[in-house]
Amino acid sequence: MSIWPLARSPCKFSGPEIACSDHYDSASGLSTAQLFITLPISPDISEHIAQLNAALGVPSNYAASRGLALCLTPDELVETEPDFYGRPQRLTAQALQAWSQMKSCAAESEITLHLISAFRSPDYQYELLKRKLDAGQSIDQILQVNAAPGYSEHHTGRAIDVGTLGCAALVEEFEWTPAFAWLREHAGEFGFALSYPRDNPSGMAYEPWHWCFREQSSGAFAKNLDKPTRKE
Ligand SMILES: [Zn+2]
Repeated sequence: MSIWPLARSPCKFSGPEIACSDHYDSASGLSTAQLFITLPISPDISEHIAQLNAALGVPSNYAASRGLALCLTPDELVETEPDFYGRPQRLTAQALQAWSQMKSCAAESEITLHLISAFRSPDYQYELLKRKLDAGQSIDQILQVNAAPGYSEHHTGRAIDVGTLGCAALVEEFEWTPAFAWLREHAGEFGFALSYPRDNPSGMAYEPWHWCFREQSSGAFAKNLDKPTRKE
């Protein structure tokens, strides 16, 4: 089974391992696949993803039945600040710039945002699902809350899981925090959208902590990025 250069997990330390997997952009109505698949997909990558999914017992109609296409790993990723647990994380340069600006702007309103997770490779996703299978969950159960390898927005280096002080990581209660209220109002100004709203078309669990940077949100986003960084 071939491993391509960026197909390594950035996470060697302890921390939450929930992978997020809805693929619906509530703002534009476009699926993640429509947003991110702009380059030809190498047969090698397609084959590698197919092998990972076959090894997990992911149904062969998984992608088609959910309207998903592959989420490709970008050629270049940059190091972010360490996440809340001190682990190294990576994003695309543009997503990191947008995240940094958003976090700084939130801080000015005394809203604490911190990074829980960012880029994850398909191989990491495979290991994540494999551990759940080994622990006794069925693949159908797992796919209700985790994307199959190759289909997670985290593969794109544009998705982040966000936490805040006073709230456990990756729990639905995040929606009751001031941080979520702030994000709901302002994240779009920085190009971030909530990927997994309630009752999303992919049938994925509600994930108020998962936000994905989309270059298409260019208007207000570009305006914010033009501002000098006021903190950090
Ligand atoms: Zn996520």
